[in-house]
Amino acid sequence: MPNKIRDFIDLVACVFVLMVILQSGSAMADSWPQERREHLRVCWEIPDFKEEKQWVANAIEREYGSRQLLNVVEWGECDAMPDANIRITIMDQGPHTRGIGPQLDQLEHGVVFNFTFMHWGRSCKAQRRECIEGIAVHEFGHVLGLPDAAIPMGGDSATCSGVQLATQEVQSDVVIGEDSVMNYCNPNWRSGRLTGTDLVAIGSMFQLQGK
Ligand SMILES: [Zn+2]
Repeated sequence: MPNKIRDFIDLVACVFVLMVILQSGSAMADSWPQERREHLRVCWEIPDFKEEKQWVANAIEREYGSRQLLNVVEWGECDAMPDANIRITIMDQGPHTRGIGPQLDQLEHGVVFNFTFMHWGRSCKAQRRECIEGIAVHEFGHVLGLPDAAIPMGGDSATCSGVQLATQEVQSDVVIGEDSVMNYCNPNWRSGRLTGTDLVAIGSMFQLQGK
């Protein structure tokens, strides 16, 4: 029972952060100019976790790099890369980003990953690699410029009942599909695989922004 309560608190905190982001108007997609997203430099603020970091790099290359959606030219430690575009920290809490797209440029703790799942997301302890890769593909959707796709509309956020998918009215520029990795009410959001609708959303984001 305490685990369930903890998971519920995590989810409430996550939804609260999402609502703050929405109120601040960052729900709009916001990507990098093409030249910059093809030359991103990414650093880790925390040492160790060599194997987990490699899982993340491989998943990002497989889903984004191989499709020329985003290209990381260098992964390293932040101590050695003070001007890296994306700074990732590792904490045992709900993974998230502190903005989307270029808002994250050189931002300290800009992206937060969880590699241990001792407190948050305990169900991931038995399948750490799948969870780490799946969450990485979601968080790098934010790095690329996509917002979260699920919007609480007065329903039960804990079960996603009554939570609506962000629509044209809410996001106004890019429509994200129900099976998207950006829709955390999609049971497969941690699949670690971009779906056809993700690719359409990313394509329209690039096109609309002329990037
Ligand atoms: Zn998210």
